[in-house]
Amino acid sequence: MLIDNDATKKLLEEIEILIRYAVPEEEQAVASNFLASFQEDMFALGVIKDYYQTLPDAREEALVKISALEEKEQVFLLLLSTSAHHYYYLTNDEGGLFLGEWDKGIVDGHVLSFFDYPDEEAFKKTHTSIKECREYVPLERLNEEICPSCGIKAGGLHTLGCPVEVCPWCGGQLNHCNCRFEQLDVEELTDEKKLTELEEKLEKKGRIPYAREQRPSFLTEEGAVK
Ligand SMILES: [Zn+2]
Ligand SMILES: [Zn+2]
Repeated sequence: MLIDNDATKKLLEEIEILIRYAVPEEEQAVASNFLASFQEDMFALGVIKDYYQTLPDAREEALVKISALEEKEQVFLLLLSTSAHHYYYLTNDEGGLFLGEWDKGIVDGHVLSFFDYPDEEAFKKTHTSIKECREYVPLERLNEEICPSCGIKAGGLHTLGCPVEVCPWCGGQLNHCNCRFEQLDVEELTDEKKLTELEEKLEKKGRIPYAREQRPSFLTEEGAVK
């Protein structure tokens, strides 16, 4: 895979300049160190640049963490954290959008339904606390050894519910095919007991661990690096 060194270098320099203007002196080292950990990751650099350009709520704070909450069809829902605030950020390769703060939740119904959540409650059940949000690993969008959705390494089992997991009964997408309902003989999966039952059935059948072939097509050749 080719990485465009000139483009990443230019982007890095641009962000360094933004940081100098956007962040008070005592936070600049923190901001620069964080930036340096993503120096080869065009996707993350784009996110960081947008953060410093936008400075949500005009707060002048260093960005210290990027968490990956959701991913579907090349659209990522991230959580961008400073030491004091946490912002939802929706992005694809074309651009990004700040959706507001963690505390206020996701109010946009289109965003929720895009990621297959019927309502905000359901979203909150999956993303219960900031601490449990999975940190975005530098280069993970380019690293084929890591599941792009749940972050498990090749050979490991996905987090149950990960959209990349392959169904052992039909070979389709486990969270999209009907097998889970058929296996449990239910119309929908809502209670914990049924979920545990599904997990047991899956284990008996044999869950399919993550392998690079399961990666969604957006991560192959074109589109991966620009
Ligand atoms: Zn996964
Ligand atoms: Zn199936």
